[in-house]
Amino acid sequence: MSRLRSAVQNGRRAGLEMAATPKRKKSKTVVKDEETTDASSRSSYHTFSEAADVVGFRTQLLNWYDKEKRELPWRTMAITESDVNIRIYAVWVSEIMLQQTQVVTVINYYNKWMKKWPTVQKLAAATLEEVNQMWAGLGYYSRGRRLHEGAQKVVSELKGRMPRTVDGLLKQLPGVGRYTAAAVGSIALEQVTGAVDGNVIRVLCRVRAIGADSTSPTVTEALWSLANMLVDPERPGDFNQAMMELGAQVCTPRAPSCGQCPVQSHCRSYHKVHVKQEQNSQKLLGKPDRKTPVLNDIEDCMDSGTCLLCPSEPWDDGLGVQNFPRKPAKKPRRVERMLSCVVARSGENGDQYLLVQRPNKGLLAGLWEFPSILLREENYSAKHKTTLCDGINQIMATHLTESLLQYVGEVHHIFSHITQSSVVYSVRLKEGDTQARMENAQWLSKSALQEAAMSTGQKKIFKLYDSVDNPKEKGDKGGKKLKQAGMKSNKKLQTSNKHKGSAANSGSRQRSLNAFFRTVKEEN
Ligand code: SF4
Ligand code: ZN
Repeated sequence: MSRLRSAVQNGRRAGLEMAATPKRKKSKTVVKDEETTDASSRSSYHTFSEAADVVGFRTQLLNWYDKEKRELPWRTMAITESDVNIRIYAVWVSEIMLQQTQVVTVINYYNKWMKKWPTVQKLAAATLEEVNQMWAGLGYYSRGRRLHEGAQKVVSELKGRMPRTVDGLLKQLPGVGRYTAAAVGSIALEQVTGAVDGNVIRVLCRVRAIGADSTSPTVTEALWSLANMLVDPERPGDFNQAMMELGAQVCTPRAPSCGQCPVQSHCRSYHKVHVKQEQNSQKLLGKPDRKTPVLNDIEDCMDSGTCLLCPSEPWDDGLGVQNFPRKPAKKPRRVERMLSCVVARSGENGDQYLLVQRPNKGLLAGLWEFPSILLREENYSAKHKTTLCDGINQIMATHLTESLLQYVGEVHHIFSHITQSSVVYSVRLKEGDTQARMENAQWLSKSALQEAAMSTGQKKIFKLYDSVDNPKEKGDKGGKKLKQAGMKSNKKLQTSNKHKGSAANSGSRQRSLNAFFRTVKEEN
């Protein structure tokens, strides 16, 4: 079947699927309108009812992609790797890494990962500790864990054979959802399916002026139907990557470059902006409010008012095409306050630092951190030094006193749903005081610490400590600057001198060992 013919047929088939509008109650007036209006013209506002438009959209998008796409290692792998098992594995790794993380950040991690574990078998043979170490700094640590679990499952249950269908990927790999399965299936296996990620949501909502809450089930299903309708059956992987590339490079969240957009002629929101501009300029010139003939027929959805895909909020001229998509207001981030202590001792080859390992399940599973305590709101003014001494004494079987603890500063770290502020102290232990009595504690040198499986928040803590502890190494100004930068990032969370004083003078609180290791929920 020729590409054009199959594309047209696919467009028609998908167009019919989309013609079915969601069931809802209508007022009598609306029902009457429906009887007298062509149903296809009404539904076409949020979809593509003409096969020629579908073909045009695909062609324009893919022509642009062929010229403008970025060369990325996983794209090269998807094209050049002839071993299908490795190809699926390579695309799966890239898709998991790209979730919530920008392309530029992922490239280095991806190259290192594929060099160390070029096959699913090699990854399955790695330890979780190695995986965490490799993932350190990339955030959302459960992703690395899931890849590792998935690789072990493929080796132990699927005889090392990666699933070969979208459905198989979805059902058999942990951490693989609808989008990831579709992306891997289309890119690595050329399976004909759309793939809807955040970039594609934005592009499709703008192209078809879908302004209802983009996280609602109705909009989600409409977007998947649109994506399945538009995907090029001859080049599904390229088409999906082109949609994502368009969202990342042209149809960006805050500065869309409509002037350079290959699918501008199909874009409802772009046309809507022009209609509004035309109307406004006519008003300014005092001309009667006549309709703009060319744009009138696509200006609005004919179901507007009852349509489940139209925006519920009024159009905002200042936003232009950014009126789409609409998301529900974000919940404010939870504020968390931590106490952390960098515990140092002298080693043969320089200083060493005490790290404790988080449990192997749950958030930040298996990662290493400085002894830390999560403060509940009612304990914000608890005596920091006493609390930390209690905790360290439990780990080390020492008898530290408060006077040995030095205040270092504060570190602020923003996670997806948490704003975390860590008040950092340090203490240097004497010889003989340094035998940890817990299995999940270890001493690491400064260089080993840089390589350890630690979260970015913990690395920030060490950076602050290091800049204050070694001001000559960094320069006095550098140390001060860093300390201030941490303090500046969230004024509300700063520890004022007054607060520090009150913290040091308020009542003490004995903590259990579990409480000592209870840390923030991070990056998930
Ligand atoms: Fe996005 Fe503008 Fe292109 Fe429409 S014309 S898809 S809003 S970049
Ligand atoms: Zn509508």
